[in-house]
Amino acid sequence: MKSVTQPVIKDVVLVGAGHSHVAVLRMFGMESIPGVRFTLISREVHTPYSGMLPGVVAGLYDIDDAHIDTGPLTRFAGARLYQDEVIDIDLAERRVICRHRPPVRYDLLSLNIGSTPNTLAVEGASEHAIPVKPIDGFIRRFEALRARALERRGHARIALVGAGAGGVELLLSVERRLRREIAQAGFDANGLSFTLVSDVPDILPTFPAAFRNRFQAVFDERGIAVVTGAAVKRVEAGRLILEGRAPIEADEILWTTEAAPAGWLAKTGLPIDERGFLKVDDTLRVTGRDDVFAAGDTIAFWRELPKSGVYAVRAGPILAENLRRNLTGRSLRKFRPQREALYLVSTGERSAVGTRNGLVFAGRWVWRWKDWIDRRFMRKFNDLPEMATPAASVSPLADQSALKEISAIAMRCGGCGAKVGATILSRALGAIEPAPRSDIVVGLDAPDDAALVDVGGSRLSLQTVDYFRAIVDDPYVLGKIAANHALGDVYAMGGEPQSALAIATVPYGLEAKVEADLSAMMAGANEVLREAGCALVGGHTSEGAELALGFAVNGLVLRSVALRKTGLSSGDALILTKPIGTGTLLAAHMRGKAKARWVMAAIAQMIHSNRQAAEVLRRHGVHAATDVTGFGLLGHLVEMVRASDVDVTLAVDRVPLLEGARESVERGIFSSLQPQNVRLRRAIRDLETAGRHQLYPLLFDPQTAGGLLAAVPLAEAERCVAELRSVGYADAAVIGFVTERTGALEPITLDLCGARLAAALAGPHPVLHRGHSPQERAHAQEPIH
Ligand SMILES: Cc1cc2nc3c(=O)[nH]c(=O)nc-3n(C[C@H](O)[C@H](O)[C@H](O)COP(=O)(O)OP(=O)(O)OC[C@H]3O[C@@H](n4cnc5c(N)ncnc54)[C@H](O)[C@@H]3O)c2cc1C
Repeated sequence: MKSVTQPVIKDVVLVGAGHSHVAVLRMFGMESIPGVRFTLISREVHTPYSGMLPGVVAGLYDIDDAHIDTGPLTRFAGARLYQDEVIDIDLAERRVICRHRPPVRYDLLSLNIGSTPNTLAVEGASEHAIPVKPIDGFIRRFEALRARALERRGHARIALVGAGAGGVELLLSVERRLRREIAQAGFDANGLSFTLVSDVPDILPTFPAAFRNRFQAVFDERGIAVVTGAAVKRVEAGRLILEGRAPIEADEILWTTEAAPAGWLAKTGLPIDERGFLKVDDTLRVTGRDDVFAAGDTIAFWRELPKSGVYAVRAGPILAENLRRNLTGRSLRKFRPQREALYLVSTGERSAVGTRNGLVFAGRWVWRWKDWIDRRFMRKFNDLPEMATPAASVSPLADQSALKEISAIAMRCGGCGAKVGATILSRALGAIEPAPRSDIVVGLDAPDDAALVDVGGSRLSLQTVDYFRAIVDDPYVLGKIAANHALGDVYAMGGEPQSALAIATVPYGLEAKVEADLSAMMAGANEVLREAGCALVGGHTSEGAELALGFAVNGLVLRSVALRKTGLSSGDALILTKPIGTGTLLAAHMRGKAKARWVMAAIAQMIHSNRQAAEVLRRHGVHAATDVTGFGLLGHLVEMVRASDVDVTLAVDRVPLLEGARESVERGIFSSLQPQNVRLRRAIRDLETAGRHQLYPLLFDPQTAGGLLAAVPLAEAERCVAELRSVGYADAAVIGFVTERTGALEPITLDLCGARLAAALAGPHPVLHRGHSPQERAHAQEPIH
C-alpha cells in the first residue's frame, strides 16, 4: 500500500473501473508520480472481467474468480476509491458530478464506463427484457432469473436476443447451468426451452463460417432453437413480437444486442458521434480536449472497433502511458489496436471454440487455454506485489522494547477513533483532579459515554467529544463517519443532539486542494448532523500532517430518562444493534488486504445512525446502554458490568459480525488498539477454554461508530430485536444476559455454543449457573494467531 505523502499538485479522476482503468491503477501503483493523486469513482467496486463472466453464469467460476477487486488495487495505487454513479461532468469548472456526493474536482479526467445494450431502440425492451449490460449488474439479474426458473419447477422458456459472440456464449452458459440445476432440484430439465433470436441472417456474423458452423452444431445438439433474420419489433410481457414472423413466447428475455453508450454523456458537451459514443483521437484523448481521455466500449475510435473487452484491455497500458505523458508535458503515444484479435468463446462447459486470422479450432484444450489466459490476467490485479513499508528513521537510543513499540506505531491504523487504550487513559487521568462543582452530574469521576451537566430545569446537558485521523480515503465519507461517531454517545445516553463544534486538521497543500477536501469533509458531516437535527455552530481548523476530524457535541436529555452504563440488572438481555469488525477490516484495508465490498459494507454501518435504535430500545424498556467504540465489545461491556455490579453471560456465536471480519482476523490482521483492549481479558471466566473460540479476538476489536449495546428485560428481548430489524438494523441480535453478581473475580462468562442464552430466552428466569460444560470445552476452537 502506498500513501500520498507529498502535497497534492494534480488530481487525476478515473470514472468507471473498466478494463482499461484497472491497468492504469496497476501501472501507477508500480510507478507513481509524486504529487499526483488518483481517485477512482465507480458504480461497482468489484469489476467483472468480461472474459470470465459467462463462466460465472455457467457455474465454472465463483464471483471472486471473475471480478477485479478495486479495494486492494486502489490501495496499491495510492488512489482514493469512491463508490458512486457519475451523472454529468462540469467541463468549465472541471468537476465530476455524482449521484450521491458533492462534485469531485479534477485536473485530468479519464472515462472507462463501458456500454449498455440498446434496449431503448425497441419498444418494450427496457420494461420486459433483462439487459446483459452493464455487465456489473448482470450477475444479480441472472441470480433472480435462476430463482424464478426453480420456482416454476423448470418449466421456463428462455429467449436471448442478439447473436454476437457475447450473446451466443451467454445463452450456452445459461442453458448448461439451468439444465443442471433444474435436474439437481429433482425437476425435469426438458421443461426448459431456449431460443436465440437475431435480425441478421447468420449467427456470429463477424466470424468465419467454420466458427459459426461449430456453434450451430452445438445449438442443434442441445435442442436450442435459432431464429435468424427476425427483427424484434416490440417486446411485451412474456413475448417477442417479430417483423413479419409469428411471435415468440418467452418467460425470460435476455437482451444482448448492439451496445449503446451511457445516455448522460450527451449532455456533458463532450464530442460524441451519431450514436452517442465519445469521440477520441488516436491517443485516446477526447477530441478537442487536453484534459479528458477515454477508453473501452464507451469510445468512438477513429476507426470502428468491436465493443469487446479485448480492446478495452489493450487500451489500458497506452491510456496509462498517455496520462503520465500528459501530466509530465510530453507528447502522446498512438493507440494501435490490432486488426485481428484472438477470440476464444466457450460453449458453457469446459470446452471452447477459438479463431484467429481465419483459423478455427475447438475442444477442451481450447477451454483450458482460455482458462489459463483469463486466470493469468486476473492474477495481475488480484495478486498484487507486496509494497515495502517505508523504513522509519529510528533513534540509536531505542532498545528492543522501544523498537517493538515503535514498529507498532508505524502500523497504527487510525480506526477505532484512533483511541488511546483504556489502561493508558485511566493511568494518565488518574492523578487529575477536576475542579469540584455541584452541577456536574456525570464527570471524570464516573466516566460514561458523555458528561451530564445540570443546567437547571428538567433537562440535563450532555457533552461529548470525539476526534480521529482519516480512516477512509474519501473526505466526504470521513465527515459522515466522524459526525455519526460523535452523535453515538448522545444516543447511548438516551438524549437528543443539539449543537456541534467541529475540529478539523487538513494536510498542508495547494489552497484549491485543501479547500476541496475540507468542503467535501464538512459537507458529509453536515448532512449527518442536519439529519440528526444537530446544528453545526462553529469549530476550529488547522493544518497538520494528515486529515483528521472530530466534533464536540452537546445534547439534551430529560433527567428521568438519561441512560447510564450503571443500569444493568439481573434478568436483562443484552442487545447489540450493529455488527462488529470495523477495527480489523480498516486495518486490513490499510494494508490492501480487505475486499472492497467488505469495506463498503463496513462504511455503510459506520454511517448508520444509532438514533432510531435508541428510540426502539426505549420503547422496549431499556435499562442501560452504551455505544460500542474504541475499547471493543468486551471493553464496553466490562465498563457496564463493573458500573452495575452484575455478572453477564455473552453468547459469542450470537455476536453479529461484518462481512470479512472473521477472515481478516483469521489472517492475523488486527487494529493497532487491539493489544491494549485484550488486557481486559482478565474479566473473562475460564479464559483457557473461552480464549480458544474462533471469534474470541473479535470481542476486543475496536469499533468506529459502532452500534448500541443495551439491556432490556429478557421477556422483551426478541420483540425488541424484531423491531430493530424492521427499522433497518438488519443484524441486531440478542447476545447475552445479565445475572446477579457472584463472588467470582471475573464477571463475564462466555457462552460458547449459545445454549445458555437460548435457555435464558426460553425460560421465565435467567440461568444463574455458570462455568463451562464439557460440550462447550469441545466446541472451543484452537486460538487464531
Ligand atoms: C455476457 C458477455 C460476455 C462477454 N464476453 C467477452 C469476452 O469473452 N471477451 C471480450 O473481449 N468481451 C466480452 N464481452 C464484452 C465486454 O463485456 C465489454 O466489451 C467490456 O466489458 C467493455 O469494457 P469497458 O472497460 O469498456 O467497460 P466495463 O468493463 O463495462 O466497465 C465499466 C465500469 O464503469 C462503471 N460505470 C459505468 N457507468 C458508470 C457511471 N456512470 N459512473 C461510475 N461508474 C460507472 C461500471 O461499474 C464498471 O466498473 C462480453 C460481454 C457480455 C455481455
